[in-house]
Amino acid sequence: MFVDTAKIFIKAGDGGDGAVAFHREKYVASGGPDGGDGGRGGNIVFVADDNLSTLADFRYKRKYVAQKGENGRGSRCNGKKAEDLVIRVPRGTLIREVSSGRIIADISDKEPVIVAKGGKGGWGNTHFATPTRQTPRFAKPGQPGEEFEVKLELKLLADVGIVGFPNVGKSTLISVVSEAKPIIANYHFTTITPILGVVRMGPDSSFVMADIPGLIEGAGDGLGLGHQFLRHVERCRLLVHMVDVSGSEGRNPKEDFRIINEELKKFNPELAERPMIVAANKCDLTDDEVVEDFRKFIEEQGYKFFPIMAAISYEVEPLLKEIQEQLSKLPPVVRYEAEPALLPDIDELNEVDIKVVNKGGVFFVEADRLLRVLRMIDFNDTDSLQYFQKVLESSGVIDELKKAGIHDGDTVSLYDFEFEYME
Ligand code: GDP
Ligand code: MG
Repeated sequence: MFVDTAKIFIKAGDGGDGAVAFHREKYVASGGPDGGDGGRGGNIVFVADDNLSTLADFRYKRKYVAQKGENGRGSRCNGKKAEDLVIRVPRGTLIREVSSGRIIADISDKEPVIVAKGGKGGWGNTHFATPTRQTPRFAKPGQPGEEFEVKLELKLLADVGIVGFPNVGKSTLISVVSEAKPIIANYHFTTITPILGVVRMGPDSSFVMADIPGLIEGAGDGLGLGHQFLRHVERCRLLVHMVDVSGSEGRNPKEDFRIINEELKKFNPELAERPMIVAANKCDLTDDEVVEDFRKFIEEQGYKFFPIMAAISYEVEPLLKEIQEQLSKLPPVVRYEAEPALLPDIDELNEVDIKVVNKGGVFFVEADRLLRVLRMIDFNDTDSLQYFQKVLESSGVIDELKKAGIHDGDTVSLYDFEFEYME
């Protein structure tokens, strides 16, 4: 079975904790604080790997957790940051957050993408020394790493997609024009995995062709095998619509052409607008008049027409030249933009676990759910700040601070964010 979607859980590493330590030296009575900072947790990084063609590996391993950063130590030794956890996926994999459906990343280029950031290391007590507080006996814990449940979705990256009914000769064409070696047989649905082949047109010129498995009537509604594969057509810059012009399986080529176009449109109306070239295959099995009649039918609708015999590469060259010519004028293969996370509704945040600790007059607040929000706040934007103010009230942070005995002018420390408390 061809696996082109998967759901996994990813969690970046937590930051290491800051250390509480004091300088010790022979004959020196009591040294100052010298606790080092914790190291950053490992990121979860995705990278495209051209040796992979499916997401099958993710059916067996569904949980990916990166390492925690090292804790800080005495003598101002900072903890080491943890290694990133690198996840390899086939090129063209989209990563979506399950809860919102938003696209987090499109792994289509060679640069690795950080999808979940490791938590920052906590500060050691060295940072908390002030003229009035010379022996701070506290440090900050590391911040938790980001975590998401994500859906991986492969959307092939190909310049040209060959579409058409099963058994018309799509796999045959890709096998004669590229190094790809798909299974070819005289029965329906032999290709159940889209096959990519690189077609070399010259020393510096090539394009990627995809053999999209058999579409059948009803594919756009999710019937048959087609629906699963239509997703892979979406990024193709150009379509080659292949038709068995001989009607060797008892169908009518004109009907075939209409039905497949209908299916493409049903799946995604944009596909109906995609530039398309028509290849009439199996010309050896029919008369010239039939081919010419079909040519007229196709050309009247404004498409370029190429009669071929894929099995013996007959007249395949002019088709490839036309593909190359059209590709040279088309925009590059689509990349999907990452979609920003939306701030949650304030009501969703009224049952958050909050911990407030008063350490020498600084009120440390810990609330992992709020950390996620905090990471999304733009502190230069007044709307964003107002929202955050409301979150502090409705989530109960202000109440907890009051219970802990906070006064006007005390400092509140919420992860990286510090502010002065005002009644
Ligand atoms: P796909 O399902 O569209 O990928 O079709 P295949 O490439 O697997 O081909 C289906 C059958 O058609 C195979 O038996 C091929 O050998 C045969 N075929 C492909 N091209 C031609 C052709 O030009 N002429 C004839 N007579 N048969 C062909
Ligand atoms: Mg095939």
